[in-house]
Amino acid sequence: MFLETQTNLTADIKIDQFFDSQSKYTYQEYIQKVVNYVTNFLNNENFYSGESPNNLRLKTDLLRANPNATLSIDEALKEIKELYLDHTVAFHHPNYVAHLNCPVLLPAVVGDLVASSVNTAIETWDQSTSATLIEQEMIRWICSEMGLPTVSDGVFTSGGTQSNFMGLLMARDHYAFKHYGLNLKENGWSDIVSKFRFFCSEKAHFSIKKNAALMGMGYNSVIPVATDDKMKMQPNALVQAIEKEKQLGNIPIAVIATAGTTDFGSFDPLDAIAQITDEYDIWFHVDGAYGGSYILTETHQHLLNGIERADSITIDFHKTMFQPVCSSAFLVRDTKHFKYVSYYADYLNPLEHRDSACPNLIEKSIQTTRRFDALKLWFTLKMTGAKTIGSFLEKVHYLALDLYYSIKDDTDFEVAHKPELSTLVFRYVASEVDFDTINLFIKNTLFKSGQASIASTKLDDKIYLKFTLLNPKSTIDNLLNIVQLIKETGRNYKTHN
Ligand SMILES: *Cc1c(COP(=O)(O)O)cnc(C)c1O
Repeated sequence: MFLETQTNLTADIKIDQFFDSQSKYTYQEYIQKVVNYVTNFLNNENFYSGESPNNLRLKTDLLRANPNATLSIDEALKEIKELYLDHTVAFHHPNYVAHLNCPVLLPAVVGDLVASSVNTAIETWDQSTSATLIEQEMIRWICSEMGLPTVSDGVFTSGGTQSNFMGLLMARDHYAFKHYGLNLKENGWSDIVSKFRFFCSEKAHFSIKKNAALMGMGYNSVIPVATDDKMKMQPNALVQAIEKEKQLGNIPIAVIATAGTTDFGSFDPLDAIAQITDEYDIWFHVDGAYGGSYILTETHQHLLNGIERADSITIDFHKTMFQPVCSSAFLVRDTKHFKYVSYYADYLNPLEHRDSACPNLIEKSIQTTRRFDALKLWFTLKMTGAKTIGSFLEKVHYLALDLYYSIKDDTDFEVAHKPELSTLVFRYVASEVDFDTINLFIKNTLFKSGQASIASTKLDDKIYLKFTLLNPKSTIDNLLNIVQLIKETGRNYKTHN
């Protein structure tokens, strides 16, 4: 009769799949089943099955065979087990030592499940209510750990890359406003901006250059500053670089210090750099994506001295606070600087209805729809506690030191540095084969076989291996096992090639 009320049969059945009060038993059933499958993933023997990329592609192709067929929960779980859970990379595995991926804490997983199910969108009060307050509370907590003043503020972001973007953007727009009365947000590019220069160490994260490019300023607006033999920015070299750019007619606007470089875990001397940014009256951003969380430790807190003088800070909870991705924050010394990113949309957060009792976090973010990622951290602080997180971080640091002392005199290896944080960069040198070739061979062979995942990086244009340790349950024996695998693989190259 009425076309509008005609529905097809499948839609009638599938309407059960919405998360609502009628489907609560289905929800429980699904979650229980999925928990069983995910628990089984923990039984995987290796960090990765070693299945070849071609076979994985073939499995994925099968999915294309009948895109309209729908599966039951059991069928879907079985399929995803064979396609993904059996073959994906397990960051909790002791033989996973490649990148800055941490094993996650169970309280954080609980928080993520709640956040995904309830599906709060955090950007406005009318979509989130107390979730907004919880995010702000997490921000207040970390700002106070960092020693920032009470006018400080922050926002959760998708990661260190986005947080660094916000730092560079604020530094630029603030400088343009303060010194030239320019409103770049409203009026866009001005020629003078072509002369603006950022300074960071040559070991800083690539996202500094990438973000400068995204901001239309190009890689060349980022001036690399020399590091010392401990991979830390040299304050003298910073001053020289600033002076040189000024002589060239360019305009220094910000220094980005790294607290925990990605490869070497080195901390730039924050206090000395703060002194310099004060003298030149320019922005001081600290990229603490990796090392920022070490503010919770006793061993490393002193390396963060001076972070309380920063204009803005990046910190990644999904690296060193054992949170599932994404969970990261951008912190700013003075909340008023958020004006450089805020926008007032009639349908979401009209300026005339601004109400401090019901804040709209969209005014601080470059995202619009945004996950309630702060909830994971809330569960973690409540159930694990900040002090314990600090002790986990100390543990992985000592693990890196143990490894260093175990291999530094081993003639099979050349070790690039003494770990300041929880990475160790070294290379295998017991070979007649070109060292770059043999080290890449070792890394690729161990990955492909599912035996161990190690990273590689470059130092002085030479290829090195890198261990990144973020698993406090790992032991020195676990690590020496991987070292043994490296040696065997290195020796095998000779016999097989
Ligand atoms: C990992 C890292 C980043 C980037 O963070 P994402 O969360 O991966 O976007 C930035 N800076 C440093 C020092 C890092 O180690």
